[in-house]
Amino acid sequence: MTHSQPSPDQLPHKIPVGISSCLLGDNVRFNGGHSHSDYCDNILSQYFDYQKFCPEVAAGFGTPRPTLRLEGDPNSPRMVFSKHSDQDVSDVFMAASNQYLEKLDHLDGYILMKKSPSCGMERIKVYQENGHPHMQRSVGLFTKALRQRYPLLPIEEDGRLNDPALRENFLLRVFTHHDFRHSMTADARMKDLIAFHSRYKYMVMAHSQPTYRQLGRMLSGNDPRPFDELKTAYFDILMTTLSKPAERKNHCNVLMHLVGYLKHAVDVSVRNDILDVVEQYRRGEVNLATPVTLLRHYLKHYGSEYVNQQSYFIPYPSPLGIRNTV
Ligand code: SF4
Repeated sequence: MTHSQPSPDQLPHKIPVGISSCLLGDNVRFNGGHSHSDYCDNILSQYFDYQKFCPEVAAGFGTPRPTLRLEGDPNSPRMVFSKHSDQDVSDVFMAASNQYLEKLDHLDGYILMKKSPSCGMERIKVYQENGHPHMQRSVGLFTKALRQRYPLLPIEEDGRLNDPALRENFLLRVFTHHDFRHSMTADARMKDLIAFHSRYKYMVMAHSQPTYRQLGRMLSGNDPRPFDELKTAYFDILMTTLSKPAERKNHCNVLMHLVGYLKHAVDVSVRNDILDVVEQYRRGEVNLATPVTLLRHYLKHYGSEYVNQQSYFIPYPSPLGIRNTV
């Protein structure tokens, strides 16, 4: 049985994504306030079914509560209340977080609140005994544990979602993660993995040519590993490769390949017009949506089923307008 998935434009359901509660407007911050994110709550919520969690409230610290901070070794900091640094609350905090983390297998992404000693994803201050922050920064304790437990889960901070390239990359990974999990059901076989890979070839190529070749070799029938092992290794390589935004020159390479599918179908002057637009994109004069939309228009009429099923064309819902920003 083939488990082909609808494109992100046609998904009949929302995707399960974890989120720091304060980003949805819950008054759970130490000062009794929130950090409402309009983009998460009003835009992405059209596609994401949020599962919210505040690890500090779950640990029983109450709201409002004294501020917390990280102290000690930046590689393995402890959590303390800022004004009572002799009182280590790391164990209480981690017990509540770990209990919650056990139940997140179904998520396809996680959005976290920045600067928090619990939820922050990067650059979190770790204080030394002299009261000054260490030069080396750390990760919030909840987020560190989340990463350890689900290393391939796409995670991002709300603030970083304002960066078009990071936002594009996060959404790409969330929808890919979801597609893979739903395509590779318990009864999936090698042919299902090959069918999945067939749809993602140009997406992978846009991120890494060596990985494109590596994954192709893995699925060529010469890899002796059992299917489950191969599937796990494939997903690991795929998500790791996609975690870095694709470069403009690699997109151009993919676009040129796609133009190749029109070789015998359209007039040479039409092909040259499309190539001109690819060059405009290469020079940064137009965004990615322009050549992709143009190519898609012609390929819909003249391209094969194989090329038209490429996830590269619709990696996330079109109404989000993401490719108008990169
Ligand atoms: S940043 Fe995390 S710990 Fe702090 S209020 Fe928001 S959800 Fe709670």
